[in-house]
Amino acid sequence: MEMAGTGSRHGSRSQMMGFLYIVKFGGQFFLKSRRASELGVMPAYIDGLERKGLLYLLWADSLSAGAQCGFCNTVIWVDASEDLVLSEKKPDHVPSSGGGYKQYYNQKITRFLESVPPCPCCGRQEFDRFVNNVNFPRLEDGTVVTKLTPESIKNVDPEKVDVWFLKNA
Ligand SMILES: [Zn+2]
Repeated sequence: MEMAGTGSRHGSRSQMMGFLYIVKFGGQFFLKSRRASELGVMPAYIDGLERKGLLYLLWADSLSAGAQCGFCNTVIWVDASEDLVLSEKKPDHVPSSGGGYKQYYNQKITRFLESVPPCPCCGRQEFDRFVNNVNFPRLEDGTVVTKLTPESIKNVDPEKVDVWFLKNA
């Protein structure tokens, strides 16, 4: 079994990180603090909305996806290719497109949001927003960004921002 933080994929980089926070849930999950840069997460402030907190964007090629807490807006990130729900293969009876597929996809996202253990910041289990590279989260204070232009994005060094990463044990 690959131990969190010692896997070859991240090599010595993750050892540099140290284990600042690790929370275990019944031996099934690890929640740990990781640098945003390790997950392909790009933290940014939005011009004029700096006081509302960071927006977490994903690089187009990032394998990360997230669940955002409906209460405190913390985002818990996972590797979508390893997450048990998100990596699930589409059952044969589900069509590849159209309404049937959409229904399956929406149910899968709901199951994913419900699979995330309680929020490490507020203790609630009320994740209400799925985050990926086309569906970005609310700002840290809960503000929904309705308009995003490249000029309004003020990137923050992802080496300096810690985020929560959930890994199946
Ligand atoms: Zn929370």
